Amino acid sequence: MAFEGLSERLQGTMTKIKGKGKVSEADVKDMMREVRFALIEADVNLKVVKEFVKKVSERAAGSDVMDSLTPGQQVVKIVKDELTELMGGEQSKIEFSTKQPTVIMMVGLQGAGKTTTTGKLAGLLRKKHNRKPLLVAADVYRPAAVQQLETVGKQLTIPVFSKGTDISPVEIARQAIEHAKAEHLDTVIIDTAGRLHIDDTLMQELKDIRALKEPDEIFLVVDAMTGQDAVNVAQSFDEAIGITGVVLTKLDGDTRGGAALSIRTVTQKPIKFIGMGEKLDALDVFHPERMASRILGMGDMLSLIEKAQTNVDEEKAKQLEEKFRTSSFTFDDFLEQLAQVKQMGPLDEILKMLPGANKIKGLENAKVDESQMGRVEAIIYSMTKQEKTTPEIINANRKKRIARGSGTSIQDVNRLLKQFEDMKKMMKQMSGMSSKKGKKKMSM
Ligand code: GDP
Repeated sequence: MAFEGLSERLQGTMTKIKGKGKVSEADVKDMMREVRFALIEADVNLKVVKEFVKKVSERAAGSDVMDSLTPGQQVVKIVKDELTELMGGEQSKIEFSTKQPTVIMMVGLQGAGKTTTTGKLAGLLRKKHNRKPLLVAADVYRPAAVQQLETVGKQLTIPVFSKGTDISPVEIARQAIEHAKAEHLDTVIIDTAGRLHIDDTLMQELKDIRALKEPDEIFLVVDAMTGQDAVNVAQSFDEAIGITGVVLTKLDGDTRGGAALSIRTVTQKPIKFIGMGEKLDALDVFHPERMASRILGMGDMLSLIEKAQTNVDEEKAKQLEEKFRTSSFTFDDFLEQLAQVKQMGPLDEILKMLPGANKIKGLENAKVDESQMGRVEAIIYSMTKQEKTTPEIINANRKKRIARGSGTSIQDVNRLLKQFEDMKKMMKQMSGMSSKKGKKKMSM
């Protein structure tokens, strides 16, 4: 899992200071020594580490912290704020042109994940922003790249503009923009040529494409696994052609996190998206605050909720919230929820976003036993209509019957009944929170 070492170290350090009723200067110094070490271990750029340590130390030494009732927690909050700031502070939005079409250039070195990300981005913009994308195969030097983009386009049912490899990328891009206008496709995403190294020919070609119609965005795709190299690549591309943002790929791998934490400070360009897997829907908008929460083990409930929301239809969600609020949630609703959870994606991925999840040893290798869900479904199917709506009536005899009917044990039935009750309680609390428009930020 990405950031694992950093996360573990920082959390250890934070736990030590969090509970302190009094924090001395020496405590802060000790903590900062550990933080510095953790960041260096995570391959964060040295200049960035220095600045970070300086900022946190200064803020932590302030009298508002030292004299507060919960100085330890204040210090942890400062670390989280500064970590968020390091990664760009606010979430960075994507720019769409008022003049059609919006042009997005994807640039990067070979193997970084450029072609895959081009497809992923088109899918995401269609889903979240209702855009009509056109993918453009302008990487003519690697013949396989054109085919690869065509395959990606087919999988996503998004049109791909390709002209083979015998004409210049600039000409392809020019024709593609015309084609998009004619076909009323509002977002042109150009997959430019990758190279093994940065060279002048590549940069000139990118400049020529850029000159066709000033792109609304130039996204550099870099591989998070390459650490500080990714930062250097970002710096070079930015100096040569001026990028507007970075897509950091392979954050699902076990990168130490150095690139994610350094790129913004070094290049002053925001990370806009992160690649979280090989599948075409594995691209997320980058939220610095959520990532900081995740690194510090505070979980990423907001992403989780969003994931749930994109898979839930609004009307049903409203009905469900009403049911939670009035405690009229039944086992039938539970079944429906299970079906929706299954649509959210692999459960082990979802689990990792929960607060404290990264403290659970072995979770990174955990494979959720999805057959367990099948068992739960079988138990519910074995209930009568009345039992599903008023589980309180399920006595020992009924439990026996349900267990027999579902091919499970009485313990299984008991466990589900208890989980159901717990869940109802929790949902009731959560629905209270979200009715305040979900604006309530995670407090520490
Ligand atoms: P390009 O040469 O930059 O166009 O790179 P490709 O798009 O061909 O990707 C190179 C490899 O990285 C492929 O095997 C992709 O499936 C893989 N890849 C791309 N993005 C991600 C990601 O976010 N996570 C993981 N695990 N693999 C990725």
